[in-house]
Amino acid sequence: MTDMVRAAVQVAPGEMELREFPRPKTGPDDGLLRVEANGICGSDVETFRGHMGGPRPAFIPGHEPLGIIEEIGDRAAERWGVQAGDRVAVEVIVPCRACDDCLTGRYQFCPNRKYGHGVTSTETAPALWGGLAEYMYISPTSVLHKMDASLPAELAAMYNGLGAGVRWTCHLGGVGLGDTVLVLGAGQRGIGAVVAARAAGAGTIIITGLQSDAHKLAVATEFGADHTMVVDGEGAADVVKRVEEITSGRMADVVLELTPMAAGPVTDAMLCARRGGTVVLAGLKGHKEIPLQTDLIINRALTVRGAFGVDSRGMTDAIALLESRRFPLEKMHTHSFGLADAALAIQTLGGDVPGEKAIHVSVHPGL
Ligand SMILES: [Zn+2]
Ligand SMILES: [Zn+2]
Repeated sequence: MTDMVRAAVQVAPGEMELREFPRPKTGPDDGLLRVEANGICGSDVETFRGHMGGPRPAFIPGHEPLGIIEEIGDRAAERWGVQAGDRVAVEVIVPCRACDDCLTGRYQFCPNRKYGHGVTSTETAPALWGGLAEYMYISPTSVLHKMDASLPAELAAMYNGLGAGVRWTCHLGGVGLGDTVLVLGAGQRGIGAVVAARAAGAGTIIITGLQSDAHKLAVATEFGADHTMVVDGEGAADVVKRVEEITSGRMADVVLELTPMAAGPVTDAMLCARRGGTVVLAGLKGHKEIPLQTDLIINRALTVRGAFGVDSRGMTDAIALLESRRFPLEKMHTHSFGLADAALAIQTLGGDVPGEKAIHVSVHPGL
């Protein structure tokens, strides 16, 4: 065991460097995680491209960390119900656990939070806040979830995307037995939504994607999607018409709109929902104003819900799904990289590496 810890540091957009930091000393209230794997997602891609969050000091990315507790203080062990040697997933949000938002289940909005895993600058002690490192610091108010250590690490590292799928589909969308679910967008989270909908007993599951998503739509089908649609290029599907055909005019009980930046799918989502149906919006549009027929919401008595990330309940249910081994989720994992290839991992997920078709990508500091 050395006193220095290697980490990938994003020093500027498009620039990643390997650096070493002193190994933090563990006190009674905190801990140290030996990172096994860290999932990469679309927000890592956007942040690496410099499209998200504006200029920022150097930081260690990696907000979907998974690892083994290497060291833990006595009080921390009691508070988290874990001990050294346990495998845990750590949430990005480090809430205060005392304010009104924290105490009423909205801890993601905690106004007192000072740190975030994979977000906080290396200038903030003890620097090792992100998952793209050999070891990650666990703060006294970090949120931990224990996980079966016998699952392959790349599979266990899918908890975040799957957690979003579970939260948006089941907890916000309320998908239940026999429901028709339409998922607009075939990223990790769209595929996670298909898995969640299938696990919740949905009747018919429909997912849309782009021509370049063919491999993702194929995996979605293996996980239980009944219909896939390609919405761009020659022969692009008319989503509303296809949903009408598939459902014999009844339309979807729940629609999830997960497409990044595109405005059209928001209207499609409303048009594809049945009377009294639910539309969950989770595809960010870069703060653009987008045209919307509010009459549709009124006349169809729709429930429209905004979905911000994933929460503890979503994580817990996603981890249970992973541990059940009920779905061949390993088919979603396409690439594993070592720490030195952290930038390549992000570029691969972002589709910037010719010839590579990625779905789930993870960085394994031990590789
Ligand atoms: Zn993420
Ligand atoms: Zn709080």
